[in-house]
Amino acid sequence: MRLVLKPALSRSWRDKETLQFGTVTRYAGVLDHADKALCDFLGLVDGTRDRPALLEAGERVGLGREPADTLLTELEEIGLLDDAEATDRALARFPQQHRELLGPDLASLSLVHSAPCAAPAILARRADARIEVRGAGRVGAAVAAVLAAGGAGTVTVADGGRVRPGDCSPAGLSPGDVGRLRSTAAREAVQRASARPLLPGPRRKPDGPPPDFVVLAPRDGSAAFAGGTYEARLLLRAGVPHLYVGVVEEFGVIGPLVIPGMSACGHCLVLRREDEDAAWPRVLAQLAHGGSGQARTPACDTALATAIAGLAALQVQVYLDGGRPPSVDGWCEVSARDGMPRRLRLRGHPDCGCLWQPLPPG
Ligand SMILES: [Zn+2]
Repeated sequence: MRLVLKPALSRSWRDKETLQFGTVTRYAGVLDHADKALCDFLGLVDGTRDRPALLEAGERVGLGREPADTLLTELEEIGLLDDAEATDRALARFPQQHRELLGPDLASLSLVHSAPCAAPAILARRADARIEVRGAGRVGAAVAAVLAAGGAGTVTVADGGRVRPGDCSPAGLSPGDVGRLRSTAAREAVQRASARPLLPGPRRKPDGPPPDFVVLAPRDGSAAFAGGTYEARLLLRAGVPHLYVGVVEEFGVIGPLVIPGMSACGHCLVLRREDEDAAWPRVLAQLAHGGSGQARTPACDTALATAIAGLAALQVQVYLDGGRPPSVDGWCEVSARDGMPRRLRLRGHPDCGCLWQPLPPG
């Protein structure tokens, strides 16, 4: 392990002998009695030395071997150290150009997960992740591109037809894609985001293993209502975690993120809406079947769609990185009226039964 002070943290003096690492005071690490020998030693914690070499260096700069050892332990305990060796290994999983783009992402991961090897381990896990996004509209294509940029190793986008102007957004499909096959344009958006050459991408075989995660982002925004569909039931049965995301009229919705057998599912949300509004099933049926009551110009604010895509991608990352995002047992809404994210809680519905079904084998 070659130790390095977290490169993501700024350094500033709180007074003439108190050194602060990081700007956001709540999370800052502070070192007292930072004299010249200590500062000289800190300059050597640059990722080129392992611990024994650093202890020797501590002796050389006049700090002393034992104080250097104590200082390294303290730096690790307050989350200021990374392992440069593990970082190099994790980045080596990605093509050179993507590696350079991932620098700030890895720096952010190292602040969220402070142990020296934690962030590289998570980035390496992202490199193995296989994510499928269903829907290449204004939200879905952007979710896919952002996930790929953040290090998800395999991101495929499933959709049919050709790109329409309403599918385009600055984070997803570009206006130059209008008229092209959605599947091709979305694949290229993913490849551009991760600095890969524009080549025919991987296709999932129908009988191959399921993806690690599925994002349900149909272009019409119906993800917000689609729980309980055949598609969702298949994902539940296969034990594949999935997230609903979409923009409906002036509302953006993220969630629920469903961990099969462990958190409330999309059908729980549908049943809850039915409890609150007896006419809901009739409205839902008309939405689902593309009846004459469909909006002639479906609303989808670009800023709202981009924000929803970014939040959705972030919550997928948080989940795949081992956390519990707010869309688990809940959902998040953002309105184009005020841009204020709100989180609503979702309990497993007693008539759904998704939480008492046994997990699939394997
Ligand atoms: Zn359910």
